[in-house]
Amino acid sequence: MPHDDDREAPRPALVGGLLEAVDRLIPDELLLDTDSRLRSRVLVLSSVGIGTLGLLGHLVRGYTLPLDGNFWAGLGLIATFFLLPVVQRTTRSARIAGGVLSAVLIISLPLLHANFGRFPAPVLLFFPVAPAVVTFFNGARLGLLATVVLSTSTIVLAKLLPLATSEAFAASTPTFTSFAAVSPLICFLLAAVYDRNRQRNDQDLSRINRELVAARTLAEEADRRKTEFLRHMSHELRTPLNAILGYSELLREEATDREDAALLGDLDHIHSASEHLLRLINNLLDISRIEADAIELELEDVELPALVDEVAALLRPLADAGGNALRVDLDANATIRGDRQRLKQILVNLVANACKFTKDGTIELLVAVEGGDQVSFRVRDTGVGIAPKDLERIFEPFAQVSADRDAREKGTGLGLAITRKLVELAGGSIDAESTVGRGTTFVIRLPRGGPPPDDVVTGSS
Ligand code: ADP
Repeated sequence: MPHDDDREAPRPALVGGLLEAVDRLIPDELLLDTDSRLRSRVLVLSSVGIGTLGLLGHLVRGYTLPLDGNFWAGLGLIATFFLLPVVQRTTRSARIAGGVLSAVLIISLPLLHANFGRFPAPVLLFFPVAPAVVTFFNGARLGLLATVVLSTSTIVLAKLLPLATSEAFAASTPTFTSFAAVSPLICFLLAAVYDRNRQRNDQDLSRINRELVAARTLAEEADRRKTEFLRHMSHELRTPLNAILGYSELLREEATDREDAALLGDLDHIHSASEHLLRLINNLLDISRIEADAIELELEDVELPALVDEVAALLRPLADAGGNALRVDLDANATIRGDRQRLKQILVNLVANACKFTKDGTIELLVAVEGGDQVSFRVRDTGVGIAPKDLERIFEPFAQVSADRDAREKGTGLGLAITRKLVELAGGSIDAESTVGRGTTFVIRLPRGGPPPDDVVTGSS
């Protein structure tokens, strides 16, 4: 099943294969987060590993020594290890299965040693490991308990049992005993430090998560208020602005009649500045409505040749003004299911930009049906082009990257941001390619049958 590991660096095939086999023994929900996955895997690996080692040793012992009660008791203990993955699967908890493992270790290790009948027994080497295992599965408190039990039993066993016969070994018994008694403590300390760090990290992580959630809620709220504010402001600003435009138009007619060239020049300034402001306000209103998901696409079957003709007729004067040739090319029967007005807005934005940033060149609007279910719109110009570092920014609101100050002042820096959002709303994509000094091509691809059902956004205004 997919989990965090999918993002980790690839590991050797053998390790990957082993972990896959181990994961098959673990319930799915324990594999979901890193911490429980780690515990569950360690439980399976350590119990099967200890069980297998124990079984091999025990079989050798059974071959050389009589099959007495101790042999069968040892076999029972080994079987317990093999049962631990089953306990984990049934209880769906690495902690419970780990608890059983801890109990088995704490109880069985001293008993196994006592059963050996002499000090030290080889099993003594497992003593330092047990507290670490207990701490790993059940926390520092039980780890400390395991340490006390095993350290005490080491000292008691050393006192009660006869020493191993080798003379040399007997001489080093005090050192051996003290090392054996101290090593569980060392192991415990290591595990406890690990456990404390982990807990601290967990706490830090959940604190950071809480802070992130709070910050996101605040940011979303601020965003909503900003959108709401922009919406109200745009409506309020448009009414007086339309009055200014209307009256300046009237005054222009009067000035023309009176042949007052100076006044006409001033009125032209008022008129074009007001138009620019209206464009800016309309764009702001558009982008705020899109961001607030308050745009409803009105889907219909759009005849593309008629639409493209309209766009070309609208912008031909602008193309002519810059000494540009405007060329359109498309499939005569091309149709698409979409919002006609929005589609026109998208194409007008791109072709108007091409006209603005091209002098004495060529502008092409090419429409093609691709693969039957997709329509591509290419707007290609031979203008100033866009530097690679700017190409990433042009779709951001207010990103104006052209060196041409005049062209910048005519624009609002919102056209492409709106275009991209409208294209995405229609279930499509937009890309730009450009070479400085040679020209720019924008390519829009839209699904021919309209946006997928989930992408049709309905809204309140
Ligand atoms: P504006 O209203 O300023 O044109 P846009 O969002 O439409 O805003 O475009 C953002 C910027 O991207 C423009 O100011 C210009 O610098 C650059 N740009 C857009 N289209 C072209 C193009 N065809 N050729 C060169 N630069 C372009």
